[in-house]
Amino acid sequence: MEQALLARYDRPLPRYTSYPTAPHFSAATGAKDHALWLAAIPPGARASLYLHVPFCRTMCWFCGCTTSAVHSVGALERYAAALETEIGRVAAAIGHRLPAGQIHWGGGTPTALPAPLLRRVHAALARHFALDDTTEIAIEIDPRTLPDDATALLRDLAVTRVSLGVQDFAPAVQAAIGRHQSVAQTKAAADAARAAGIASVNFDLVYGLPFQTIDSLEATIGEVLALGPDRIALYGYAHVPWTRKRQQVIAERALPDVAARFAQQQRAAELLVAAGYRRIGLDHFARPEDAMARAAGTGALRRNFQGYTVDPSDLLIGLGASAISFLPQGYAQNAVGTQPYLAAIEAGALATAKGLALDDEDRLRGAIIERLMCDLEVDLAAFGADPARFAGECAALAPLESDGFLHREGSRIIVTEAGRPFLRHAAAAFDAWLGQAGRHAAAI
Ligand code: SF4
Repeated sequence: MEQALLARYDRPLPRYTSYPTAPHFSAATGAKDHALWLAAIPPGARASLYLHVPFCRTMCWFCGCTTSAVHSVGALERYAAALETEIGRVAAAIGHRLPAGQIHWGGGTPTALPAPLLRRVHAALARHFALDDTTEIAIEIDPRTLPDDATALLRDLAVTRVSLGVQDFAPAVQAAIGRHQSVAQTKAAADAARAAGIASVNFDLVYGLPFQTIDSLEATIGEVLALGPDRIALYGYAHVPWTRKRQQVIAERALPDVAARFAQQQRAAELLVAAGYRRIGLDHFARPEDAMARAAGTGALRRNFQGYTVDPSDLLIGLGASAISFLPQGYAQNAVGTQPYLAAIEAGALATAKGLALDDEDRLRGAIIERLMCDLEVDLAAFGADPARFAGECAALAPLESDGFLHREGSRIIVTEAGRPFLRHAAAAFDAWLGQAGRHAAAI
């Protein structure tokens, strides 16, 4: 693609895993609101749970997650105890034993918690929420720090899907991001998951890393495909050193420029599609028989803080430091720092520190943005609102239209295959909050 054309789209934009996005949350929404929202969950509803573990053995310099290197057993035990307490407290606020359709352990590195602590937290989940054979349980695993008894642990936690972080296997890239991970370590993690009977083994790849090239990405994808992943997420490295100080270690001159990033993304997508994976949304790939590919084919794909999901629930309950809950009334985020989170839980409160109460306009715009991000198209007439009210937003789409990245048919907006990398630009046209808070990473 022409450099001049890319330059026109090279601007920072949210990833739209929520709308409004997290930088707009404020302390005007707090624990009292959250408690009322939890109490209003009706019997018969089904929720998704997200547990955040903000610890890793060592820090990778490229990482944008809320996490830190922690080794003290006492600190890990204290955090696990707080999670158990929070699970009970949130369940008490709900007032009945809510069925959980999905549980996602994220971080950080969830397995930074020793296996007995993970089992204890899982037991607390099973006590306070109704889990059954249909509950999907996903966990993020760092292949470099696979627990000794990984297969038994994954079975005990009833895990049904694992995500393995890979990034790039090239030594120069690994040295530049402070993460040394061999193909053998990665294979051992995938083998442990499959030995536990886990049918869905997913890999997270990253392009746009320092010293990364199309050659290194091609070689990495070759190694990953040999491990037979069910899904692959292909994320662009988000360089945000103003919020993630650890990224200041990464020399900006070693980062691929916008044209090189775009070429890496395109080549990776080409290889994955040629290998038989279906391209989904902005940055996911799945085997055609995978639940995510099927959901994408029927318009049932959803997007939440974990990215793309097949989870149909409109109730997401976040547990742990920085975790975000999404309820019909709005968003509620726990204290971001581990210490404030622990202090709130140990003081007998919910850990909610900020959030945002939604109005009907937010819900309408959020629904439009979600459909665009998931389906690459949206019918403005499908939401019961007069499409004419979005004349300004449609006018903002004109450059995308003239560049061949989308077209309009009546009230329908359809992003073309060429426009897929610019999905966030199309979504941004409907973002009434854009520019009011926060600084985002580059959208290409
Ligand atoms: S990439 Fe994973 S292991 Fe590395 S710091 Fe981030 S969360 Fe921790």
